[in-house]
Amino acid sequence: MTVGLDDRQRAMLAEMGVRIWWPAQTSPPQEAPATIAEAGPNSPETIKKIAKKDPVALGIGRKSLISAPADAPPAPAAPMGPDVGVVNGLDWPELETAVAACRACGLCERRRQTVFGVGDRQADWMVIGEAPGEQEDLRGEPFVGPAGQLLDNMLRAVGLSRTAGPADAPSAGGVAPPLSPAGVYIANVLKCRPPGNRNPQPDEMAHCAPYLRRQIALVQPRLILAMGRFAVQFLLDSTEPIGRLRGQVHRYEGIPVVVTYHPAYLLRNLPDKAKAWADLRLALKTLREASGGRMAGQAARSVS
Ligand code: SF4
Repeated sequence: MTVGLDDRQRAMLAEMGVRIWWPAQTSPPQEAPATIAEAGPNSPETIKKIAKKDPVALGIGRKSLISAPADAPPAPAAPMGPDVGVVNGLDWPELETAVAACRACGLCERRRQTVFGVGDRQADWMVIGEAPGEQEDLRGEPFVGPAGQLLDNMLRAVGLSRTAGPADAPSAGGVAPPLSPAGVYIANVLKCRPPGNRNPQPDEMAHCAPYLRRQIALVQPRLILAMGRFAVQFLLDSTEPIGRLRGQVHRYEGIPVVVTYHPAYLLRNLPDKAKAWADLRLALKTLREASGGRMAGQAARSVS
C-alpha cells in the first residue's frame, strides 16, 4: 500500500476498517527525518557519512529518525535492530560510530556510553563476553575492574594481551616464560549496560547481534573464547549450561569456539579457576593444531 493518500482516500479506507502503516524502512513524505546526529554523541560530519548509507535502514536513533504525521496511527511496537545488510557493509570506524549512536533498544536510555570493544583488530584470538557492567559503562571498555584483571591475568598466562607490548608478569601453570604477547580482541554481546547488571534480554541480544557479527567478520579470528552463558547463546545458539559445553571444540561459522566461565563467575567460584585454565589450554591446543604449529608470541610455546 502506498502512503501518498489524500484526506478523502484516508477517510474512505478508515470507513472500510483499513489501517495504514508507514513502511518500516522508508521515511514518511511530509516530514524530513531528523538528523542522525540528534541520536548520538559523535560529530555530525562522521555520522552523516554513515547516514548516507541509509540511516533509517541502519536503525540508528530510529525513534527520532522516523516521525509520522500528526494524524497517523500509532507506530508499530518495538523498533527492529539495525539492518544487517547495512551493518555488514561498515568498516571499523563506521561500525564504531554506528554503535555509539545506536538507539535500537531500550538500553540506550540509561547508558553512559557504549562499550564497543578493545584490542588487536587482526588478532588470532577473540574473546567474547556478555554485557558491560558498571565499570565498563564508566570506562567504555569491556572487562575492566576485578573481572577484567582476572581476564588479563588469564590471557597473560598463555602469552596474550589486550594491549600490544611485552609481557610484564611471569607465566603460570607450566607455561613457558613470556616472549612477546600476541594480541587479542575483546568484545561483548551487548554494547550497552543492562540496568542493575541484570541479564541481557533476548530482544536486546537480537537487536545488538549484527554489531558483534560484523566485528567477528572484520577480525576474522582463528579461535573464539566464549566467556559466560550469553556469549555461548549468541555463538552457539545453545542454552546448555557451560559445564556441559566446555571441554570440547564448537564452531561459529567455521571458527573454532572454546567455551569457558565468565571471569566474574570465577571470582565467586574460585575452585572453577582450574577448569578455566583447562579451557585455555584446550583453546591453545586447538589454535596450534589449526595453525600447523605456527602461532604468534608466547602462545606458540604454551601448551605442554
Ligand atoms: S545494546 Fe546494542 S542494540 Fe541496544 S542500544 Fe546498545 S548498541 Fe544499540
